[in-house]
Amino acid sequence: MKPIRALTFDLDNTLWETNISILRAEDAMVRHLRDLTPARWMADFNLDTFHAMRKEIVREQPQIAHNLTVIRKETLKCWFENRGATRAVAEDLANEGFQIFYKERQNVTPYPGTVATLGQLYKNFKLGAITNGNADLMAMQIGRYFQFSLQSQNFPKPKPAPVMFEEALKRLKVHPHECMHVGDDIEHDVMGARQVGMKTVWFNMNNRSPEDDVLADYVITDLRQLLHLLKQHG
Ligand SMILES: [Mg+2]
Repeated sequence: MKPIRALTFDLDNTLWETNISILRAEDAMVRHLRDLTPARWMADFNLDTFHAMRKEIVREQPQIAHNLTVIRKETLKCWFENRGATRAVAEDLANEGFQIFYKERQNVTPYPGTVATLGQLYKNFKLGAITNGNADLMAMQIGRYFQFSLQSQNFPKPKPAPVMFEEALKRLKVHPHECMHVGDDIEHDVMGARQVGMKTVWFNMNNRSPEDDVLADYVITDLRQLLHLLKQHG
């Protein structure tokens, strides 16, 4: 087996549970916007109505589907314009709401053992991150273990398209077979990385049983298992 020289990681639901931080961030955003706006503008605002509107916007503008920042801002802007705000006011509120959301969204708690595992790995391997979300890894404490974090919003296509994987390989200066990608999403992470020739690890924390055969090289339920697995791999 060829030795592994680098690893790339998915972020959301691979290094931490995402839903908790997203819900907390949305809650903070809503509270902030209620303080800033007339009561009737936010009267029927809740996560269901917001998400329904967001879905509609993505359907109308599929070209922004991979950019969660733009989607969120567009949805907020549309929400306030529909309630009578001028475009300029709606844009200001959207930007303001997004800032609150974004700041809070970065407040994540890595799964147990994750920080220690990354701290071990980065001594022997080059590490990078590839996300379809808008987590700002490099601003977090654990960002220090990584050389970079690629966000799909800065690329023409999200995972599983090859473009982000290829950029990561270029930056890590390794061949595909020398790099192992770790992620929780079978399509985005396992299939995507496999397509460009990388080794793949399906992070299956909740022991989900897949609908089809998973063509990952390895399956783990805890990030700490990576240390053992890499020793085996040589
Ligand atoms: Mg994920």
